[in-house]
Amino acid sequence: MSKEPLDLLIFGAHPDDAEIGMGGTIAKHTEAGYRVGICDLTHAEMSSNGTVEIRKQEADKAAQVLGLAARTNLGYADRGLFGTPEHIEGITLEIRRHRPRIVFAPYWLDRHPDHVACSQLVQEAVFNAKLRRYAPDTGLEAWTVQQLYFYFINDVYDADLTVDISAQIERKRESLQAYGTQFTASGRSNDFVATPLNQGYLERVEARDCLLGQKCGVAAAEGFVSKLPYSVHLF
Ligand SMILES: [Zn+2]
Repeated sequence: MSKEPLDLLIFGAHPDDAEIGMGGTIAKHTEAGYRVGICDLTHAEMSSNGTVEIRKQEADKAAQVLGLAARTNLGYADRGLFGTPEHIEGITLEIRRHRPRIVFAPYWLDRHPDHVACSQLVQEAVFNAKLRRYAPDTGLEAWTVQQLYFYFINDVYDADLTVDISAQIERKRESLQAYGTQFTASGRSNDFVATPLNQGYLERVEARDCLLGQKCGVAAAEGFVSKLPYSVHLF
C-alpha cells in the first residue's frame, strides 16, 4: 500500500492500454512532480505474442520510462472480465488504497470487449469507493474520487478535453516500445504471429495524437471524455 495518495490512477484491462491512450499525459504529470499510478486488471495472457513473464518485465520497464509511483496488477483472467462483485470490489479497494484525485478508465466504446468491460467495472468501483457501508471490514476507508475521465485505446471518438503532449511524444513512444513482444519485432520468437498491434500500430497511435494536436494548435495531444460537465473558471 502506498503511503502517499496518488494524484492520478489509471486502470487498463491489459498492460499497455494506459500507455496507448495516455502515455504522454502520464509522462507530463510525472515530469511535473505528480504521483501517477497504473493498475492493470489482467496480465494479458491471451495475447498472441510474448509470455506473461516477459509482459511483466515489459510493464515494469514502461513504468520506469513513465516515472510511475505505483504499478499494480489485479491478476483477473484475460477475456474473463464479467463484472462480478469480486472484480468490482478488487478495483474499489485499489482506489481506496491509493486515494487518487482523478481516475481514468478506458472509453466505454472500443472494439476489444475487455476494454469495454474494464470501463464499466471502473465506473462501478469509483461509485462504490465513496460508500462508507461498502466493504467496511477491509480496513480501507471510503474515498471520493474527484473526477473520472475516459481515454481511448483502439477506437477514437470526440474528445471533451485534450492534453498537449508535444513535449512528451518521445517518452510516450519509448514507453510503448518497452512492449517489445507486442508492438515491435524485437520480441519475435519462432511462434510469432502477425497481429494488428505489430503492423504499424504505434505509428497510427502517434498519427492520431498529431491529428488531435492539429485541432488544438499543438504538435500532439491526447483526448479524454467526461460523463459529467467539465467546470472552468472564465476569469
Ligand atoms: Zn488492451
